[in-house]
Amino acid sequence: MPLLPITLYGDNILRKKVDKVKEVDNETIELITNMFDTMRNANGIGLAANQVGVNKAIFIVDITQVEDYENTKPIVLINPKIVKYSDEQTLFEEGCLSIPDIRAEVKRPESITISYHDTDFNEHTIDVDKLMSRVMQHEYDHLRGILFTDLIDPEQQKLFKKPLKKIQKRKVDIDYPVSKTTDYHLVL
Ligand code: ZN
Repeated sequence: MPLLPITLYGDNILRKKVDKVKEVDNETIELITNMFDTMRNANGIGLAANQVGVNKAIFIVDITQVEDYENTKPIVLINPKIVKYSDEQTLFEEGCLSIPDIRAEVKRPESITISYHDTDFNEHTIDVDKLMSRVMQHEYDHLRGILFTDLIDPEQQKLFKKPLKKIQKRKVDIDYPVSKTTDYHLVL
């Protein structure tokens, strides 16, 4: 299975709104299979299609490697839409395969209701909380061009300015395939 290069902070595809998926064809299934391989190879627990350079409303989640979540089924969400956020908010440390080696606490609603299509294009609406809610909100944001570093306080954002520039210039050691600076027009 081919591993797909992961797009990095600064690639303009991470800032674009994605297109809705109209049908799940063989190409879509192949993309999803490759996304799972790519995410697992990079030890990620969530991945959005624009993180592998595809402008489509799809993300995947697999938290089975996380303690206490071994029995949670990996899931594919096509055309996801968060329809409800809880009033209760929680702080939790996040990272991102497109922003390697940077972690920060992000405040988000504790639980959400999300609707989506599965790979048979059947529609579902589910309630999720804790880690699953956290990962889904992070991935949902990717599909809207939002990165977790946009959501942290301005003081911390200042501290990340230099490390983020380094990521843009690929001056970091990353042990999984990533996009080249020439693949996507950089937003600097
Ligand atoms: Zn991410």
